Amino acid sequence: MIRTRFAPSPTGYLHVGGLRTALYSYLFAKKQKGKFLVRIEDTDRERLVADGTLNILQSLDWAGIVQDEGVCLAKDKNQIDQKGDRGPYIQSERLSIYRKYAEELLQKKAAYYCFCMPERLEELRDQQTKNKMPTGYDQHCLKTIPPEEAQKRVKAGERHVVRLAMPKIGETVFFDLIRGEVRIKNELVDDQILIKSDGFPTYHLAVVVDDHTMEISHVIRGEEWISSTPKHLQLYLNFGWKPPEFAHLPLLLNTDKSKLSKRQGDVAVVDYQKKGYLPEALVNFVAFLGWNPGGEQEIFGLDELIKAFSLEKVGKGGSVFNIEKLDWFNKEYLKRLDPAALLKRAWPWLVEAKLIDEKKLEDKKYSDWLARVLMLERERVTTLSELPAAIRFIFSVPDYPVEMLVWKKGTREEVKKVIPDLLAYLETLKDIDWHTKTLEDNIKTWIEANSFQVGSVLWPFRVALSGLEKSPGPFEIAAVLGKAEVVTRLKAAIHKVI
Ligand code: GLU
Repeated sequence: MIRTRFAPSPTGYLHVGGLRTALYSYLFAKKQKGKFLVRIEDTDRERLVADGTLNILQSLDWAGIVQDEGVCLAKDKNQIDQKGDRGPYIQSERLSIYRKYAEELLQKKAAYYCFCMPERLEELRDQQTKNKMPTGYDQHCLKTIPPEEAQKRVKAGERHVVRLAMPKIGETVFFDLIRGEVRIKNELVDDQILIKSDGFPTYHLAVVVDDHTMEISHVIRGEEWISSTPKHLQLYLNFGWKPPEFAHLPLLLNTDKSKLSKRQGDVAVVDYQKKGYLPEALVNFVAFLGWNPGGEQEIFGLDELIKAFSLEKVGKGGSVFNIEKLDWFNKEYLKRLDPAALLKRAWPWLVEAKLIDEKKLEDKKYSDWLARVLMLERERVTTLSELPAAIRFIFSVPDYPVEMLVWKKGTREEVKKVIPDLLAYLETLKDIDWHTKTLEDNIKTWIEANSFQVGSVLWPFRVALSGLEKSPGPFEIAAVLGKAEVVTRLKAAIHKVI
């Protein structure tokens, strides 16, 4: 059975890199009818962010990545829950488990107690740096303190940590599913702290114990963990466990090829959510950061991603986070929303902008109309958050200067004649003709019959209806506004120009 996991540390909000790791782990498992689980790695107590876990879970939920097992959102989506029978899935709730395994390592002499004070370690590091040597613990306590004496000192309450006794000869070789064979010299691998002086395990012990006890078959994670893999493999060896397969994903880069960071823009998924990106667009975009199925197709829904995904098609090099591409995906997905779906997605932004009254959504006639209004701008905006400002002119005409009514090849005198004529003509139209297509056909015929220039009519018509230099076309706006409002707006324009 394929079992993958996403194991974030709640030291911040879910960022796009984390979303990609979660997504690839999810896709890989789902493609092979396996299970995907979420584990929270909160052993670094100093860097915890209070609402980090909740944010991570909510962002995954928003993205449509559903865990089969592990830490998840409770029904109300505002609390944390867990599901599955290999839990608990939050590391701070598993401390006794790690203690037990650390004991086992101590007994096997695969780990040892270390009593070195921070000052000594600092001095050691300074010396090593000065002598241009690799930094790392020098095994002082392993070499100088016999295990029985160390036991006694621990019993007497002396401050200590537990370290991995890493063999310093030879090299660790493993096969990475993305990079192929990886070789790392063991002399470069530190005697990692496994249990800290506060009794908490470090990530390195916890990750191995958990991946084993939770029966993880494939570890898919960021490239930054490659250099830790020899430590993990050493632990698997010491415990006598079969290690999982590893796949280390390439870095995400800024456009200047530096490592993706907050400094160059937003990295948290929730920031993109708040800006009005659609989850399916962000997911599709993130899927392509490092993976490419080959071929022309770029739009992939989650189900299609599951079918198409494979680790062989993940590149080794870093991939650039290009916001313009994300914008392109978002526009593509906006285009695919029907009026009702668009209204549903846009609703929170409309309410927040106080453009409409939340209670009115229940009124079918009103919501159908509002959906048509949104359709006017669907292909003109990049994100949902731009919609309130974009449709504001439908609710009230901005105060525009009279010159705006004059077409670039026309005159004010012409406007004075054209608008009243057009108004008189529109008043003769029947209500059943009040649709984009019929309005367009009728008005264009009328323009021709009167030998007007098209622009000299349609430009002031559009400006009178929108009050804007740029807007959707006049027929679409007129159809949505309805006859009475169009008449009012044309009268206001006449008033302005005369
Ligand atoms: N807790 C680690 C992180 O947040 C997970 C690394 C791993 O997947 O092994 O990056």
